[in-house]
Amino acid sequence: MSINVITYHYVRKIKKSKYSNLKGLEFNLFKKQINFFKKNFEIISMEQFLNEDYNKKKKNILLTFDDGLNDHYKFVFPFLMSKKIKGSFFAPVNSTEKRTILEVHKLQFIFEYYQDKRSLLNEILGIVRKHKINIESLYKKQITLIKKNDHRFNDKYTNIIRNLIQYILPKKVSEMIVSKYFNIILGKNKNFVDDLYMTTEQMREMINNGMHFGSHGKKHVWLEYEKDKEQLNEINSSKNFLIKNGINQDSLTICYPFGSYNFKTLKILKKLNFKAGFTTNFPRSNKISNKLIIPRYDTNDFLDKI
Ligand SMILES: [Zn+2]
Repeated sequence: MSINVITYHYVRKIKKSKYSNLKGLEFNLFKKQINFFKKNFEIISMEQFLNEDYNKKKKNILLTFDDGLNDHYKFVFPFLMSKKIKGSFFAPVNSTEKRTILEVHKLQFIFEYYQDKRSLLNEILGIVRKHKINIESLYKKQITLIKKNDHRFNDKYTNIIRNLIQYILPKKVSEMIVSKYFNIILGKNKNFVDDLYMTTEQMREMINNGMHFGSHGKKHVWLEYEKDKEQLNEINSSKNFLIKNGINQDSLTICYPFGSYNFKTLKILKKLNFKAGFTTNFPRSNKISNKLIIPRYDTNDFLDKI
């Protein structure tokens, strides 16, 4: 098996929007990139990939879109339809169905709003100190996390804040900090949820038009840090959600939130009849040895070529 999988998150008209500092892909560049792929690669569908129904001698590409964003319904879906391309989308249950704003996105919009990441970090450390949390020990944890979890495309301060919020600080404190900053942003936009996430109806419309949907968990958590029972619940609820909305039992796939999984995750997936799992690991080659641990490129990895 030889394939290149590309990851997309935000695809929208960023510069002209009220969130002009959001880290994402301009719709114009997306269109250019897809045209580039169309010319130089074979863009295949998830069904073709799962059934190994494609020419393995060609340079094949599979397009994946994370997080069930409204961008994917509003911009990506019509464009892919016009080019007769099938994309694969991974929508968390809670954001799509329950209209909950996920912590991961609250943080991204905080980063969009607060451009000076260094001051933001200092403010957050001030709050942490007030809660009598030992900064020294936090700092040591931070050092060990840097290599493992830092995002390749983030700056240093963004990564430190992200690590603090997502795994170093006690959950109660990090949730309090995120709400404090995010509520200011939320207060300025009454349609925030609907602007951010596609609805279940929109998802169904995309499925009816041949787009693939896979699991992205229920609450978008780090599966490897969850208890076994909770992991099972995350995966099983998302499986039910997919089937309820028209996905075939035989084409179940997952994209691990934050790229996080462990051997227990893989065991559960096999038991629940999942056929493919996508990570955030950078591909060292385009050969796939385990269909449940498929590495992916980021859209940014191909931007210099278009
Ligand atoms: Zn995600």
